[in-house]
Amino acid sequence: MKIILFGPPGSGKGTQAELLKEKEGFLHFSTGDFFRQEIAKETSLGKKVQYYLEKGLLVPDEIVIEIVENFLKENYNKKIVFDGYPRTLPQAFSLDQFLLQRNEKINFCFLIELSEEEIIKRLTSRRVCKNCGAIYNLNFKKPKIEGLCDLCNSELIQRDDDKEEVIKERINIYYKDTLPLIDYYEKKNNLYRIKGDLGKDYVYSEIIKKIKNYGNLY
Ligand code: ADP
Ligand code: ZN
Repeated sequence: MKIILFGPPGSGKGTQAELLKEKEGFLHFSTGDFFRQEIAKETSLGKKVQYYLEKGLLVPDEIVIEIVENFLKENYNKKIVFDGYPRTLPQAFSLDQFLLQRNEKINFCFLIELSEEEIIKRLTSRRVCKNCGAIYNLNFKKPKIEGLCDLCNSELIQRDDDKEEVIKERINIYYKDTLPLIDYYEKKNNLYRIKGDLGKDYVYSEIIKKIKNYGNLY
């Protein structure tokens, strides 16, 4: 079983992917998290992609595709939830091609829809733990002690790309580069739209409903 989560920045893809990992044993593959780890470790790849992440721009396809293929070589037959990949048509073609060659495929794509106003509200109030990556929100998921992580007591920070100017750029890129993908998967008949503003429990229940209906292949 392989799932792709689509949705604008802040739509909760990461949250849903973590739930699928915890409760259903999926591998959670987030290209964004992967890049942020490389940047934190100051690897040569991290140095190459830092500029793009800071500006909210997409990392060039050839870099992303290589990383995903390396990951998939070892994991292609597992249950995977893709969070933040594919984001462009060439990435989608290469993913489909890679899986097809191994008798695998994407079973479901879920598009978590959210208004622009809600995106900006969510992202400007998002904070992450510098140490463990736990995610908080100053509006609806406050830490117990202001500015500190509930889990490890480390400092909470704002992601560089969660500043308002960068958010607008990320939203523009989402509409320009990622929306054509929705069309592509919709034509393959495996895309489902979910209203993201109804909250994370609602979104998760919609995802589970679909995949559990899939029968014994799951
Ligand atoms: P969000 O979905 O909230 O924008 P992510 O953590 O998924 O955040 O991605 C953060 C950044 O990582 C993107 O703005 C981009 O620079 C880079 N990135 C992540 N996934 C991809 C991808 N599939 N293709 C190109 N760049 C990517
Ligand atoms: Zn923490």
